[in-house]
Amino acid sequence: MHNSVEERTCKLCSSEAETHDHLFFQCRYSAQVWQTITGRACNHWPSLPWISLLEWTSTRFHRSKNMEDMIGPLLLASSVYHLWQERNSRIFQNNVKSVHTLSEEVHQQMRDLLSNADTRHGITEAIGNIWNISTIATGRRS
Ligand SMILES: [Zn+2]
Repeated sequence: MHNSVEERTCKLCSSEAETHDHLFFQCRYSAQVWQTITGRACNHWPSLPWISLLEWTSTRFHRSKNMEDMIGPLLLASSVYHLWQERNSRIFQNNVKSVHTLSEEVHQQMRDLLSNADTRHGITEAIGNIWNISTIATGRRS
């Protein structure tokens, strides 16, 4: 079978060696997906190296119960998941999705997560607007 010592070429861009760093953070396919998603989500990432960004999101996630703070980490997790799925489906099924399609899937999964009954009461109007989710009326607004 394949030689495990030899580096594989990244399936997403077909030009660079596939490492995890490359696949998720440096690959131009992944970068385009990121740009599309964060652009749509109005998510302002701090300009940090990617590894620091991972740490940043996980500390925020653990420290906060605020839904707004969880969106970044959820977005990161969802994107990494979908990029990995895409990489596998290219290898095993020869199935290629465009940046647009993959970004749509991440966006949809985020909407599903955010509109889940357990999290929905934490959704502010601003978040609801960004993700196109109707917020639950609390009945407390005068
Ligand atoms: Zn690549």
